[in-house]
Amino acid sequence: MDEFDVVVVGSGTGMAAALAAVDAGMSVLLVEKGPTVGGSTALSGGGFWIPGNSILRESGQREDPERLQAYLRAVTRGEVEDERWQTHIDEGPAAVDMIRRLTPLSFQFMAEYADYFPELEGGSATGRACEPKPFDAKTLGVHRDKIIAPALAAPFPMPITSRGYKWLNLVARSPRGVLTAAPLVGLGLGGLALKREYVAGGQALAAGMLAGLLARRIPIWTGTALKDLSLEDGRVVGVVLDQDGTDLMVRARRGVILASGGFDRNPAMRKEYQSDVVDGSWSLGTPGDTGEVIQIAQGHGADLAFMDAAWWFPAIPVPGPMPGVLLAERSLPGQIIVNGHGHRFMNERSTT
Ligand SMILES: Cc1cc2nc3c(=O)[nH]c(=O)nc-3n(C[C@H](O)[C@H](O)[C@H](O)COP(=O)(O)OP(=O)(O)OC[C@H]3O[C@@H](n4cnc5c(N)ncnc54)[C@H](O)[C@@H]3O)c2cc1C
Repeated sequence: MDEFDVVVVGSGTGMAAALAAVDAGMSVLLVEKGPTVGGSTALSGGGFWIPGNSILRESGQREDPERLQAYLRAVTRGEVEDERWQTHIDEGPAAVDMIRRLTPLSFQFMAEYADYFPELEGGSATGRACEPKPFDAKTLGVHRDKIIAPALAAPFPMPITSRGYKWLNLVARSPRGVLTAAPLVGLGLGGLALKREYVAGGQALAAGMLAGLLARRIPIWTGTALKDLSLEDGRVVGVVLDQDGTDLMVRARRGVILASGGFDRNPAMRKEYQSDVVDGSWSLGTPGDTGEVIQIAQGHGADLAFMDAAWWFPAIPVPGPMPGVLLAERSLPGQIIVNGHGHRFMNERSTT
């Protein structure tokens, strides 16, 4: 039977967990149900809200710990123990440094990408989020196609960062839109000429983390699904995996990390926890996030919370692989969004 210190289930943020375990001197196995790695993480904007980190400091952002605590206390409204968000504040910067050390990625401050609740005490309109700079995915060589591809291909090669996104949407109105677009188009097209492929956002984050894992020869078993947890004396000691229809036991000496995403692709769970009107097609996430690992953990006594919470935004159900989303439209100056009855149904600015 295979044995590792740590088994990580899921290859989105799970790649960061695997890197952290390796950094702590442990042996790690990463298992992923799908044929590719990255999960929704690779399909995301790749932005992360980890205040007080070295990228923010280097770009001149000063953090006031008391404002930060006030903000998280206000956002979580007493529904989360202080210790949890305090741990995010205390340990987050070290996690960012770990990713910077163990991957070839560079990062930037997403200037003017406001906190989601800037009006709350301690909130910031300048923002505290960071993202990867465009990354040449071709440096992965033969492993390039192991990253899950976005459902819709960009019309032409141009790594769109969150920092630039706002200005790109204002390209017809603001000279800053043109100034933002020009270098990104240059990077995309120039990269092509140099046989490079610059990707941004979650694609960059996943590509960089995969590069880090490959450099450390971490085994990544794709096409391998967690089927159950193995317990002895009430303690998780391993995993039961399904690999090509065959059951496989792997022991985990120090622990199993479940990083297997949400349940946006599970219609029954969405109806149970969210709403009768949404189903598994109302998502931009990976098809792999079908929620069974949540159910497995629950079956072994894990408690669940915030099952109705998600990052929401308006969308139009159009034919094709994904809904038509109104992401930038939501924040264009002077507009409101109405439904088919002509009624405004949301706060256009809110994501929760
Ligand atoms: C379009 C979009 C943009 C977003 N932008 C941002 C952003 O900028 N910033 C931000 O913070 N968040 C963003 N999010 C949300 C963010 O992407 C997710 O919250 C995050 O990626 C979830 O990470 P995860 O590791 O939990 O899951 P995932 O990244 O989805 O990884 C889970 C993996 O586990 C695998 N898996 C599932 N079941 C099993 C099983 N039984 N066995 C083995 N493997 C399994 C899945 O196939 C998947 O690959 C965005 C989401 C979307 C869809």
